[in-house]
Amino acid sequence: MARNKVQFQKGLDMAEFQRLYGSEEQCHAALVTMRWPTGFICPKCTTSKYSFCTPKRLFQCSGCGLQTSVRAGTVFQKSKTPLTKWFLAMHLMTCSKNDISGMELSRQLDVKWDTAWLIKQKLMEVMLQRNSIYKLKGDIQVDDAYQGGEKAGKPGRGAANKLPFVIAVETRDGRPIYTQLRVVSGFTNEAIRDYAMANIAAGARVLSDGLACWNGFDEAGLKHISKITGSGRPTDIGFKWVNTGLGNTKGSITGTCRSIDARHTPRYLASYEWRYNRRFELPKNLARLAGVAVTISPQPRKTIAAVRPKATDLSG
Ligand SMILES: [Zn+2]
Repeated sequence: MARNKVQFQKGLDMAEFQRLYGSEEQCHAALVTMRWPTGFICPKCTTSKYSFCTPKRLFQCSGCGLQTSVRAGTVFQKSKTPLTKWFLAMHLMTCSKNDISGMELSRQLDVKWDTAWLIKQKLMEVMLQRNSIYKLKGDIQVDDAYQGGEKAGKPGRGAANKLPFVIAVETRDGRPIYTQLRVVSGFTNEAIRDYAMANIAAGARVLSDGLACWNGFDEAGLKHISKITGSGRPTDIGFKWVNTGLGNTKGSITGTCRSIDARHTPRYLASYEWRYNRRFELPKNLARLAGVAVTISPQPRKTIAAVRPKATDLSG
């Protein structure tokens, strides 16, 4: 049997990672190039002339005198963690299809657990914000799901402690291409219509089971086919890829993080979505994430960790 080219592709191995991003200078230079591809531009006055203060890696603008750094104004702002550790975190979070737990990340980076946890949350926030600019198109399978417990027929749907999300898979010639794992306010017509209008391109053909809320796809002006599948999760071949994707995501979340806090669930789902949609060219994933991270505004701890989790949770 022919090997799956996506599964068996070569990634960015550790030796190559060390060669490219092994020193603080290399990581700094990489970020500078990503943030200012045509050279430094002052964020205050847009002057391109500057002097560089090497010990603190500060750019001093020759126009207005502003002292700034490549981290300032980005998701890396205010972090005291060396860029080599940030780059290793980005590599470990993007080099395989599965997640890495906060505890494992803290061991690999040799930082405290809550430092690793915050780095991970900030990078997942980058993924979340990036995901939101893409829409699925063409043939799409959808299903309803809950984080915190799989639905089991009608009684499981809508349970109070579960966070509802839509799983959607775009297929081409019957093969899965891209996915979305998007938290919704509930499985109502209105919520699905809003989801569809924001995340599905016009002209798409959506296949769902018979749940009433999917009429929201019709309301959004999409071509929608509803298959009555009986109680429980649809097993019809048309739902193969949403079923596979949901099984893999849930298995991985449970296996890696044991439990995740509902307040942070959208970011965890976003990280699975991000990795899945970038599984075709693994060696590029670190640079892709870093390239977006320098465009995302600072994410202060107080907004990321609305309520700080207990270290004893061993969560994500
Ligand atoms: Zn300036």
